Amino acid sequence: MADLKAKNKEFFNIDPDEILNKDVKTNESIENLSKRTIKRRLKKKKWEETKAERRKYKKERDKIKKLEKHKKHVEAGMHSIKLKKNQIPSEIKVIIDCGFDDKMIDKEIVSLSSQLTRCYSDNRKCAYPVELYVTSFGGRLAERMKTVLKSQYMSWRGIQFFDESYDALCEKEGFSKEDFIYLTADSENTVHELNKNKIYIIGGLVDKNRYKNLCLDKAKSQGIYTAQLPIENHIKMASRKVLTVNQVLEIMHQWIEIKDWEKAFLNVIPMRKLPQSKINNTDQQLKDLETSSLILEDIGDLSQ
Ligand code: SAH
Repeated sequence: MADLKAKNKEFFNIDPDEILNKDVKTNESIENLSKRTIKRRLKKKKWEETKAERRKYKKERDKIKKLEKHKKHVEAGMHSIKLKKNQIPSEIKVIIDCGFDDKMIDKEIVSLSSQLTRCYSDNRKCAYPVELYVTSFGGRLAERMKTVLKSQYMSWRGIQFFDESYDALCEKEGFSKEDFIYLTADSENTVHELNKNKIYIIGGLVDKNRYKNLCLDKAKSQGIYTAQLPIENHIKMASRKVLTVNQVLEIMHQWIEIKDWEKAFLNVIPMRKLPQSKINNTDQQLKDLETSSLILEDIGDLSQ
């Protein structure tokens, strides 16, 4: 018995006398207990004592497993999009081209990471989600998303991240370059409708209009068709018609749902960008403006 007690003390770091003598319920003396009972009780105590530790370990292990599973899905090119109730995939493909890391100051990188987060969450909430791809993902943007934003993007569903440029998607996703449409406010062409056979590229850039024609020139030099959203055909803007990445995606979401550009613009573009006097103020539009939570919500901070 002495042997076993010493062994248990060494192994479990628990003094058997301490546990067993405290057993007020049975008031048993340790001498009357079998080896098996002692062992069982010590094991039980150890099990209870390490409960919190085990729970923490399991949580960490599950998190790692989840990330590994997601990584495998991404590598296998699978769209692990889990639709919410009432969501219907629009089958429209949107690439966010993040190949402008060297063109932004740190503050703009922070804004871009917020805009990407907003794109992801809008796509999770909207009625008709698009297939989202982030290309040329690297540099300070990836660094921020991995450190400050704790790699949360790795568990995002319905959005795939590639460190290569969008060209790589022709091979990886079977896209054809002829189907690319680079969206830019500087284009001479205008989009009139969104088509599921096309792949729309949004420039992942926050530049406060420093680089006019940057995306236009990039697309043209690669032989990619360009187009702007039909803002001028529908509304008057107080400032230049350059929008943020998430605003462009939200407008696309809205159009897919209501098939009405004017309403889509009014629902997304912040009030301060719309000169009140120039809006075609029908009663319905005013009502739309008043009730639109998106307009009232100040999303200006995303474009700092
Ligand atoms: N100077 C940049 C502007 C970045 S705005 C440029 O050269 O485009 C971020 C992205 O939103 C743009 O690259 C473009 O893809 C999209 N975008 C913004 N306003 C738009 C508009 N009016 N029409 C189409 N795309 C627009």
